[in-house]
Amino acid sequence: MYDYLIVGSGLYGAVFAHEAMKKGKKVLVVEKRDHIGGNIYTEQIEGINIHKYGAHIFHTSNEEVWKYVNQFTEFNNYINAPIANYKGEIYNLPFNMNTFSKMWGIVTPEEAKNIIEKQKKEIKDEPKNLEEQAISLVGRDIYEKLIKGYTEKQWERDCTEIPAFIIKRLPVRFTYDNNYFNDRYQGIPVNGYTAIIEKMLMGADIKINTDYLVYKEELDKLAKKVIYTGPIDAYFNYSLGELAYRSISFENELLDIENYQGNAVVNYTEREVPYTRIIEHKHFEFGTQPKTVISKEYSKEWKLGDEPYYPINDSINNELYNRYRKLAEKETNVLFGGRLGEYKYYDMDKVIEAALKACEKELS
Ligand code: FAD
Ligand code: UDP
Repeated sequence: MYDYLIVGSGLYGAVFAHEAMKKGKKVLVVEKRDHIGGNIYTEQIEGINIHKYGAHIFHTSNEEVWKYVNQFTEFNNYINAPIANYKGEIYNLPFNMNTFSKMWGIVTPEEAKNIIEKQKKEIKDEPKNLEEQAISLVGRDIYEKLIKGYTEKQWERDCTEIPAFIIKRLPVRFTYDNNYFNDRYQGIPVNGYTAIIEKMLMGADIKINTDYLVYKEELDKLAKKVIYTGPIDAYFNYSLGELAYRSISFENELLDIENYQGNAVVNYTEREVPYTRIIEHKHFEFGTQPKTVISKEYSKEWKLGDEPYYPINDSINNELYNRYRKLAEKETNVLFGGRLGEYKYYDMDKVIEAALKACEKELS
């Protein structure tokens, strides 16, 4: 008899499994995909670690989480500094003095601020949507070239119909600093993310290619308690309706050249290019291999059967989630956790934080 049956071998399930085993508990992990790791899974092609489910950069300001994850891997000194390509013009991201200087041919922070002040005058009241928020942060020129097309491709909606807060998570800086994040700690694990999960799960019994919901009855008999990190609506057989997600499709290419775009991440910010960005994986690790692998990312509406990537936390979906949450609270031997179990956009550091919190409550 296992103490815990852990459904899903992503970061949440792996942290929980690791902590439970540390306390002497027996765990069984079931994973419906043919590999462990969930969305942070990496696999090697031509000596390059490929981020199979989208680019993952670890960043955190939480020292505890940083120390925790460093038990399982070493990190390199990669700093994310994406580039935007607008009709062949190249700009630095996030919005900073390098961006402003290229856009307006100016040099000083004061010049940049003056231009933005002038351009934002068109927004008279508190910004009501992403368009107004963007213009009041960086002005209309940057909105038109670097924000509008990218955002509309990503969400398949007009910027006037997208909530303002989404753009607020990007830094705007009046220094020449291209670091995309403000966090204290940042990097890419030197042997890829899958190696972290392998270490966390050392000692656990693992069944891949196993969909818990298909074998629920027999699997439930094997353990005292279940930690479920799959989609909460699927657990309840969509009885209250489907939660909505954004999905992504990736087009991967192995190219017989050494360096395709000179940067790990290039965003294509014009509406007419169908993909949102191109990832060149080797640059996350300063790779010098003779070949390169690139992934074009296309954003798309999710439908049943697609991978759910980004929860759409608007009021309708949050309300539906809360109703599922109430059902979940009645399941006495099941804990729901992680990005899908809690229908929440979690960065990796936040998932580790949440899993450790659940462990503290459950295992002490
Ligand atoms: P998941 O990784 O989704 O794991 C859940 C697992 O459960 C999956 O393996 C799934 O197959 C399995 N499962 C589901 N249902 C069943 C079932 N019925 N039976 C068995 N198994 C099941 N975070 C960052 O910090 N930095 C980044 O740069 C970053 N970039 C991202 C880019 C993209 C495109 C996306 C989508 C996310 C990104 N994230 C990033 C977030 C990061 O991916 C998540 O924080 C993390 O993967 C969440 O882990 P999880 O265990 O909750 O979920
Ligand atoms: N964004 C943009 N242009 C860019 C990058 C980001 O307009 O080149 C906006 C866009 O609205 C996006 C938001 O900023 O949804 C948040 O960006 P983030 O990098 O968090 O999202 P990602 O691009 O990783 O999905």
